[in-house]
Amino acid sequence: MAELKLMNINKRYPNGFHAVKDLNIYVSDGEFLSLVGPSGCGKSTTLRMIAGLEDISEGELYIGNRLSNDIPAKDRGIAMVFQSYALFPHMTVEANITFGLKIKKVPEKIRKEKLNWVLELLDLKGLENRKPAELSGGQRQRVALGRALVLDPDVLLLDEPLSNLDAKLRVKMRTELKRIHKKLKSTIIYVTHDQAEAMTLSDRIAVMKDGKLMQIGTPSEIYNNP
Ligand code: ADP
Ligand code: ADP
Repeated sequence: MAELKLMNINKRYPNGFHAVKDLNIYVSDGEFLSLVGPSGCGKSTTLRMIAGLEDISEGELYIGNRLSNDIPAKDRGIAMVFQSYALFPHMTVEANITFGLKIKKVPEKIRKEKLNWVLELLDLKGLENRKPAELSGGQRQRVALGRALVLDPDVLLLDEPLSNLDAKLRVKMRTELKRIHKKLKSTIIYVTHDQAEAMTLSDRIAVMKDGKLMQIGTPSEIYNNP
């Protein structure tokens, strides 16, 4: 588990665009924080900086008690799930889920154990030999989540993970996410457009606009003081 400290974080893209401005957020160990705000306000950029996929232009990010600059992306204990799933189309569910473990040279016996654990957790048993094209949207989304969870991340970054699903499945996956968070107790930052999702899932909600943090608080604090 890990806490995150974003201290005066700024992002300027190479074209000069100032996408994130003086962002200060403290995320405590095991907290579920939702990041909301209009399209283009800097949510994905923020997640990508935390994951180490994008440089921080100014400011400091602490992961646990270490400055992020000192930790390569692969050693951050952070896993990210993208809106678009980004599954490998030619690989089976099993190969997709265990890919990251193979990269880390985790022995086969442990890979199998972890695979079975997430198949069980995410209700994917029996689908291990299918390819992504042979799955429903919800199943694909769960595979993408499984691929992140097998890595035992301290921090899980979810970028609109339910946005490609139909309404019914979204509600079902919302419940599953809540259950998974309870069980794993990892720190989660969850980017969503969906107010109801942010309300039901989060310990706190951070509202961004034009690259700035406008508000941060519990769901009732945010929606009683709009
Ligand atoms: P989405 O969040 O809809 O999946 P992206 O994350 O790919 O889309 O992009 C988010 C926004 O950033 C879009 O408005 C896109 O036009 C813009 N964007 C992405 N990459 C670049 C880039 N290299 N240069 C300028 N704008 C970009
Ligand atoms: P959100 O996730 O809130 O939709 P993003 O973080 O994707 O927003 O983008 C924030 C802003 O930064 C947008 O205006 C977007 O167009 C811009 N942007 C994103 N990626 C790039 C890039 N590579 N170069 C320049 N601008 C970018």
